[in-house]
Parts: sequence; C-alpha cells; structure tokens
Amino acid sequence: MPLIIGLTGGIGSGKSEASNRFIARGIQVVDADIVAREVVAQGKPALAEIAAHFGADILDDAGNLNRAKLRAIIFADPAEKHWLEALLHPIINAEIRRQLANATSPYAILASPLLLETQQYQLVDRILVIDTSEQLQLERATQRDKNNEAQIKAIMQTQLTRQERCARATDIIENHGSIDALEIQVERLHQLYLELAQSSAESHTQTN
Ligand code: ADP
Repeated sequence: MPLIIGLTGGIGSGKSEASNRFIARGIQVVDADIVAREVVAQGKPALAEIAAHFGADILDDAGNLNRAKLRAIIFADPAEKHWLEALLHPIINAEIRRQLANATSPYAILASPLLLETQQYQLVDRILVIDTSEQLQLERATQRDKNNEAQIKAIMQTQLTRQERCARATDIIENHGSIDALEIQVERLHQLYLELAQSSAESHTQTN
C-alpha cells in the first residue's frame, strides 16, 4: 500500500480543482463518489440486494438504480437510510481499499466529500482539507451547479462545519484566492508527500 492522502472539504470548497492538479502530477486519485456509483451498477450484487429490499420499483426501465427515488426514501426514513449505509459502506470501503492498494504512483489520494463523516478516514495516512469560506463555497457551488443557494445550504447543513473539518486536518489548502494560489499550495504539498513517501519506502526496506 503506498502512502495514502485523504482529500476532503465541503461542497464547492475546490476538491475537484485540487484533485485534478494532483492527477496532472501523475498521482492516482480514487474518487469515493465514483466508487459509490460503481458498486450499485447493473449486475453488481449490491443492486440486487437493494431491489430485493425496496422492490423492483427502485429500478428504472433500463434496470438502473433510480437514485432520485432512493434518495427520497432514505431522506424520509432514517431506518432505511441506516439499512442502506450498513449494506453499502463496507462494500464501498473494500473497493476503495482494493483500488488504493493497486495504485502505482509514489503516493495515492482518496478524494471523498464524506471522508470524515464516514469510516473512510481510517483508510488514509494523512487528512488534507480543502478549506474556503462558507460565502465562497456558496458562490462557487451555485455557479457551478446552477443550483439555488437554498439547495447548496441544505447540503452544507449535512456536512461538518469548517471548524470541525479543519480541526481534524493534517494539512490544509486555503482556497480563498486565485487558481494560481491553489496551484502553488498543491505543488508544495506534492513535494512534501513525495518526500514522505520516499522516507516511508526507505524505512520499509531497512526493516525488511
Ligand atoms: P468541490 O469539488 O469541492 O465541490 P470544485 O473543485 O468543483 O469544488 O469547485 C467549485 C467551483 O469553484 C468550480 O466551478 C471550480 O472551478 C471553482 N473554483 C474552485 N477553486 C477556485 C478558485 N481558487 N478560484 C476560482 N474558482 C474556483
């Protein structure tokens, strides 16, 4: 397993912008959102379990998961939300672990909006928080998603506060400024992670 960095932040904080800059440097990024979709794709065992539990109506005509319908059910019923999370979280975590273990870059990144809200933080060696003000989160996310502020605020309500998130960070990128300022911070951390990966690889060779 290479050195693993967990990258997280609130909606609109700049996680994708930061991830893309690590990818451009040849670093493999496992995206927890993508994994979460992959494990309920057609033909996957978890999808069959979901259909058995909620009924075939939870699938659309093509046999894909009707996400909007599932979201509505679990939003209205905490017990169903709990059932779904108990099914999916271990499957998602196993798949994340498998993908990270296969990474061949000097270090790898797990990018997840819910790194700290789930058990996923246990899969990483360091926690990198992308931080920005709530005002900028709102502005950038509304622009990007063409959503209204109320929808973005509702999502922010379900996430940790800035203070809670930053209190658990090993490293913080302050994304209050320009894209250039973000780029500089990514480069600085990239160099740090390369050094850390190098020294942990060396200590492994010494002990083995
Ligand atoms: P997240 O993945 O955390 O939800 P994104 O990386 O998608 O956030 O960023 C949200 C929006 O803000 C995107 O449209 C992105 O291009 C823009 N953005 C992010 N960082 C900056 C920045 N430093 N300056 C200007 N725009 C930014």
